[in-house]
Amino acid sequence: MSRSVLVTGGNRGIGLAIARSFASAGDAVTVTYRSGDPPEGLGSVRCDVTDGSSVEAAFEQVEKEQGPVEVLIANAGITRDTLLLRMSEQDFTDVIDTNLTGAYRVAKRALRKMLRAHSGRIVFISSVVGLLGSAGQVNYAASKAGLVGMARSLAREVGSRSITANIVAPGFVESDLTADLSAERRDQILSEIPLGRYASADEVAGVVRWVASAEAAYVTGAVIPVDGGLGMGH
Ligand code: NDP
Repeated sequence: MSRSVLVTGGNRGIGLAIARSFASAGDAVTVTYRSGDPPEGLGSVRCDVTDGSSVEAAFEQVEKEQGPVEVLIANAGITRDTLLLRMSEQDFTDVIDTNLTGAYRVAKRALRKMLRAHSGRIVFISSVVGLLGSAGQVNYAASKAGLVGMARSLAREVGSRSITANIVAPGFVESDLTADLSAERRDQILSEIPLGRYASADEVAGVVRWVASAEAAYVTGAVIPVDGGLGMGH
């Protein structure tokens, strides 16, 4: 059965792989994009998750074109890495506003219709560093850890309506976000990953699609790592 899927930040990277994965399974998929061109072959809507009215307008368009959102993937995210003593308050609040408050904005908007439908799937894309911590990423790790508390609280609020809220926590994934790392830092990271390589975006997408599937109907409030073993034990 085709579902109405919305992926935020789905014009590139992990979000695009997630969107293509749902589309290839026959779902109706829209991605949000903020800058650049929308990807071909998918529904698209311009949206900035830091702006509530932009989020509202995006949902209205999606509802008109493919019906109320039944599967929401809150994927949009940014980094502003630097050590805490050098981190401006703007660097901190920008990352929280996009990664955490942005996820709150889209989840809250999607939930209205999911509650009425007595079904829905919400998946938040967190990160291994949310629970492990990461020097130079106080803002980012805080935002990604915040998603865990948010998903678990939401899971408790809406479980009785057959709506699930889960976290997928990727480790290091080949994408624009990790392309900026120095060769030295890259080698250091690889030496700490039991599987000895980065993930492909498709490997993250497969897990996201599973947790949003009927097979995972009894999984909620879970933090599912896709990190090659990097975060084991946290
Ligand atoms: P990219 O930088 O490749 O893509 C980020 C996406 O988020 C882009 O589509 C971007 O849009 C969008 N975005 C950023 N800010 C906003 C905003 N204010 N409103 C709407 N959209 C926005 O990142 P990845 O694909 O690597 O990461 C995707 C998610 O996965 C992020 O949440 C990231 O934190 C998480 N993650 C990534 C890992 C990795 O190794 N890459 C590891 C663990 C987690 P635009 O094109 O307009 O900039």
